[in-house]
Amino acid sequence: MIIKKDKSEIQNFLVDAANYKGDCEAVYFPESESDILIILALARNLKQRITIAGNGTGLTGARVPEGGIVISMNKMNNILEINTAEKYAIVQPAVILREFQNEVTANRLFYPPDPTEQDCFIGASIATNASGAKSFKYGPTRNYVIELRIILSNGEVLNLKRGNNFADGNLLNLISESGSQIEISLPDYLMPNTKHSAGYFTKINMDAIDLFIGSEGTLGIITEAKLKLLEIPENLISGILFFNNEADALDFVDDARSQSIKHRMAKDENNINARGIEFFDFYSLQFLKEDYPKINDNHKAAIWFEQEINSESEEFLFDKWMSLVEKYNADIDNSWFAMDKIELEKFKNFRHAVSSKVSEFVAQKGVRKVGTDTAVPVEHFRDYYFEMKKDVAANNLNYICYGHIGDCHLHLNMLPQNADELITAKSLYARFCARVVELGGTISAEHGVGKMKRDYLFNMYGKKNILEMARIKKILDPNLLLGIGNIFDEKFLIN
Ligand SMILES: Cc1cc2nc3c(=O)[nH]c(=O)nc-3n(C[C@H](O)[C@H](O)[C@H](O)COP(=O)(O)OP(=O)(O)OC[C@H]3O[C@@H](n4cnc5c(N)ncnc54)[C@H](O)[C@@H]3O)c2cc1C
Repeated sequence: MIIKKDKSEIQNFLVDAANYKGDCEAVYFPESESDILIILALARNLKQRITIAGNGTGLTGARVPEGGIVISMNKMNNILEINTAEKYAIVQPAVILREFQNEVTANRLFYPPDPTEQDCFIGASIATNASGAKSFKYGPTRNYVIELRIILSNGEVLNLKRGNNFADGNLLNLISESGSQIEISLPDYLMPNTKHSAGYFTKINMDAIDLFIGSEGTLGIITEAKLKLLEIPENLISGILFFNNEADALDFVDDARSQSIKHRMAKDENNINARGIEFFDFYSLQFLKEDYPKINDNHKAAIWFEQEINSESEEFLFDKWMSLVEKYNADIDNSWFAMDKIELEKFKNFRHAVSSKVSEFVAQKGVRKVGTDTAVPVEHFRDYYFEMKKDVAANNLNYICYGHIGDCHLHLNMLPQNADELITAKSLYARFCARVVELGGTISAEHGVGKMKRDYLFNMYGKKNILEMARIKKILDPNLLLGIGNIFDEKFLIN
């Protein structure tokens, strides 16, 4: 097993995509579960905390160590099986999502989770319960995890199979591979009824596997996952629609969203039934227009949508979408529609370009982005969006806003130019998080909490419930080794 200690060789592990920085003594690169067991035994003896590293695309500091050692999963990167007959895959944690998606597609199957950043590891996407554009129809990563193999910090191994181990009310009983029993009484806090990825999952009679999905490297090390695959859709229709008036774009979304949800519930695939609806505000389009010259300054917003179709429904659905496009006054001459693979790929790149452009801008200008990952219930979405925009404009901050509007989940990225603006941006961020809590939403819909958002999670759930999360952690990680500082401050672990 490789172990690296030289700072010049481990720099990549001391930072993540949010530019959150940390430090550690060494990075271990296990190639097997036996290697992991050796590292854990050593760490227990030396009382060294452990941070598990995925591919470093996280935006919350969750994979950034604050002392101790890092376990990089890099070497455990094999797709072990793709079963086309039973539609599942078995993977090691460091399989890159993009490569997995390609392999699954080559097998004429479909894995819906599609975080915009496809260079993440599958293990980490499970640890953060990642989502993407298609989560509007298909939900988050959680919905596709059917089995997990997890090593706890004391070396016990859990094999969790969805459907095999439910809590009895709030009592969860886990049995490890060696036969040890772990009894957990689950917390009773209510999670928001929105897309949500912040803090431990808890529900009466919940499935044991769900506690570990989204636990951000704090409860155990995922060494293998079995994932559900679906039949690949025959074809897709997609559009990038430009609007000269933002209100028209928002009305278009309301209509497309409510029709899609209605038809999805009725399992009516031959009607408007988007699998993703994404939003780009005026400033996002300004960022993109250099690379996409068809964007002009009259375009105040754009919407990307995608729907699955087949040869029978193709024409009918195209007409259905066109009538929505006309109804809400999209700039049809400059909007784009796609039904073939090359064009669809270009559309995917368009969606990715805005977040990459922001990262480029931030790196070039040396500014720090302060970005929301909040989601609110649909009835509050517009008010919340307008409030945010008004507050940011009143403070003369540069920003761009884009994201998963189907799920009422936008990333408003403030781009402060100096230290004073950074202070203002942070105080607005805190205000936005407080507001979503009032509205019954979440402070993090997909990126997780990590080290950067734990104060906001504290405000969302309150001390009692944060202490409940710490209690769960202490049961599963009694040596307090894994992911210390993620989700909640380590002070909650002391008593
Ligand atoms: C441009 C951009 C766009 C993004 N878009 C999205 C998006 O649309 N949706 C979304 O959900 N996220 C998005 N993200 C965030 C990020 O890609 C996801 O959080 C992703 O899941 C992180 O994967 P990673 O491999 O980089 O993990 P890392 O950042 O390295 O780690 C993330 C967490 O996973 C834990 N972890 C890693 N491996 C394991 C393991 N084997 N066992 C237990 N814990 C483990 C780590 O300890 C850490 O807590 C985006 C990021 C960027 C930079």
